[in-house]
Amino acid sequence: MMTLEKTKHTHLQKAEEYVRDVFETVKERNAHETEFIQAVKEVFDSLVPVLAKHPKYIEQNILERIVEPERLLSFRVSWVDDHGKVQVNRGYRVQFNSAIGPYKGGLRFHPTVTASVVKFLGFEQIFKNSLTGQPIGGGKGGSDFDPKGKSDGEIMRFTQSFMTELWKHIGPDVDVPAGDIGVGAREIGYMFGQYKKLKGAYEAGVLTGKGVGVGGSLARTEATGYGTVYFMEEMLKSRGLSFDGQTVVVSGSGNVSIYAIEKATELGATVVACSDSDGYIYDKEGINLDTLKKIKEAGNERISEYVKEHPHAEYTEDGSGIWSIPCDVALPCATQNEIGEPSAKLLVANGVKAVGEGANMPSTLEAIDTFLNNDILFGPAKAANAGGVAVSAFEMAQNSSRVPWTFEEVDAKLHETMKNIYQNSVNAAEEYGFANNLVVGANIAGFIKVADAMIAQGVI
Ligand code: GLU
Repeated sequence: MMTLEKTKHTHLQKAEEYVRDVFETVKERNAHETEFIQAVKEVFDSLVPVLAKHPKYIEQNILERIVEPERLLSFRVSWVDDHGKVQVNRGYRVQFNSAIGPYKGGLRFHPTVTASVVKFLGFEQIFKNSLTGQPIGGGKGGSDFDPKGKSDGEIMRFTQSFMTELWKHIGPDVDVPAGDIGVGAREIGYMFGQYKKLKGAYEAGVLTGKGVGVGGSLARTEATGYGTVYFMEEMLKSRGLSFDGQTVVVSGSGNVSIYAIEKATELGATVVACSDSDGYIYDKEGINLDTLKKIKEAGNERISEYVKEHPHAEYTEDGSGIWSIPCDVALPCATQNEIGEPSAKLLVANGVKAVGEGANMPSTLEAIDTFLNNDILFGPAKAANAGGVAVSAFEMAQNSSRVPWTFEEVDAKLHETMKNIYQNSVNAAEEYGFANNLVVGANIAGFIKVADAMIAQGVI
């Protein structure tokens, strides 16, 4: 007769084998999709203890199913530039998983967008959305269109052309896109207008991140940045710390960064640096938010403009150098893989206490290991930046009920959501023997809900 220990060991071995086999298939089937493979690896490594404890997920072959998008759309986007020339870009939408709700996730307009990038983002979104506690599935999309330097007319013509294809595949109960890098309220507004025209109906809930005048939610703009800080506040509390008096470095200077800086500053931190794709600014007195908003939100200019108004601040070309600035809390809010192992080691050597991911997958797998092995508080993206999509779900609720909520109501619900995500991730990590590892905790907590919903709906 097998002892309990032996049985457990066999289950663990089976789970490891299963994960290894499916991962090999993922690598074969998606050979050149490095970002997607990276995102899958991070999740799979976390799931071994769950699969060992609940063999039903192996019996139902959940992993092989969950890594295959339900649908991946790729389409031509032709548009006419200001010189009358026809330009062609590639559009994507990945409808990854609808087990717990309609596909939900942003659209990214950036020259780096490929099928691999959209798939890694869509895969992450499945678990992130599940963690919010809201009934939303996982999706993502975008285009390799570069909005940098484009006129308003060009942006409008591009987004209209993009929507002329996409509208057939989305809907308030089908798939609900939103913004991401390069897509804000202006772009969502143009896309909403085009959808309305083609559909012949004012379906406010088809897109989120809309301007407040066209059915958008108050506090959606602030949500991702605020949410990341609320999440990290809980992590800091677990070690008797707070943002008060801490030196913080935030990469990026888009929507997520600006509102992470705003909330961290409000909580008493000094945010000394932020960046864009050209370089970073270091202001040891603390970033002046009015100037930053004027440059980035109103002016859409480069961050280097900052030193013109604040000559004591320093501008350095090449944004990646930002991680050499000593800080207590680092909030990577720019883009994927912006922190590699060398930057992670530098942060650790300079005494960083906590790292919270406002961007999607900003740390490489090696960087994550560096943080965890050095006992740094690490808030993984799926959990730490889920505030944006959580408020998108609140926007959908307001659109369905036709009742708008106040800023305070949305902010309070966001705060509560971030606390819940933190607690659920902590609990899952502890339950499966990985206390303090929120990478594992968030992946497990996000996975179980989706996997159970998939099983409940049969093999579809
Ligand atoms: N793009 C954001 C994210 O990465 C928000 C998605 C949404 O609001 O649907 O979660």
